[in-house]
Amino acid sequence: MLTIEDLTVGYGEHTALDGIDLTVGDDEIVCVLGPSGSGKSTLLRAIAGLESPTAGQIRRDGADLAGVPTHHRRLGLMFQDHALFPHRDVIGNVVFGLRMHGVSRSEARARASTTLALVGLAGYEQRAVHELSGGEQQRVALARALAPAPSLLMLDEPLGALDRALREHLVDELGALFRTLGLAVLLVTHDHDEAFALGDRVAILQDGRIEQIGSPVELWTRPATAFVAEFLGWNVTRALAPGLAAVRPDALRLGTGNGRPAPVVVGQVARQTFRRDHWRIQVELADGTALDVELRDTRPPDVGTTVEVIVDPADVIALPD
Ligand code: ADP
Repeated sequence: MLTIEDLTVGYGEHTALDGIDLTVGDDEIVCVLGPSGSGKSTLLRAIAGLESPTAGQIRRDGADLAGVPTHHRRLGLMFQDHALFPHRDVIGNVVFGLRMHGVSRSEARARASTTLALVGLAGYEQRAVHELSGGEQQRVALARALAPAPSLLMLDEPLGALDRALREHLVDELGALFRTLGLAVLLVTHDHDEAFALGDRVAILQDGRIEQIGSPVELWTRPATAFVAEFLGWNVTRALAPGLAAVRPDALRLGTGNGRPAPVVVGQVARQTFRRDHWRIQVELADGTALDVELRDTRPPDVGTTVEVIVDPADVIALPD
């Protein structure tokens, strides 16, 4: 179990992490989701021992890691840029990490081959790294991180550089692999899909603080703050309830409110965007604010059309003001 308590890290005057509390269980996958600059990389670097906390504690199975050098922390690290050695072949890249851990040459080669097979690269041992596709290089980096059998695997935007189709495919594969290995995983990303697909729990990070942490379903259905709601694509509005509230674009409908108990607001279509399998329109209200509405089964009304937006009160979540 990794336990982080009140972790604070600063760069000079700037506080990059501000009182982080977080645990990762032995076979748990925790994803930290946050925008660029929220402190995701700093968190991984601090756990790896590459940044010194100004306050707080990082413990593994109860033992304080302060002063423990990176290579004794039993971590697998996979960072965004892979940092593979271009002049070594595939197996050379994986063996290198094992040799750093003091594994003998022959055992390192055997373990490297096994790990390459695990990530779907059997037969790639002698291939030059620079000849591989981005997705294959990503697998080499993963094999290199996994080969020393770390008890905690940390990944920083592991799929960030890959194109969308490949990312979706690899997310499924990664999830299956993590479950098979029964590893503790801490993954940081700015990509919602990645975090929600992989995480047993997701922590939303903003300006060095955890805004909310919970299961994907909890977060997805009950954002606790305006930041989380907006970050997850909800409307945050005062137009639908007495105070600040959040409602998902797919919970809103267009139509006439005649005879319905549901609240109706009137506005004008300001924008329409096609998104793969639905339309998203922006409806501008009289007070100058706007609501995003997702339309699945109908074509959107033209820009400029006056529409009524209908919402079921059960779909509106009150937010702290
Ligand atoms: P993320 O990984 O979420 O993009 P980072 O952890 O890289 O965020 O950065 C968090 C904050 O700390 C940012 O405001 C960033 O500009 C700042 N920061 C990161 N590294 C350094 C550094 N070496 N020196 C000064 N500021 C830094």
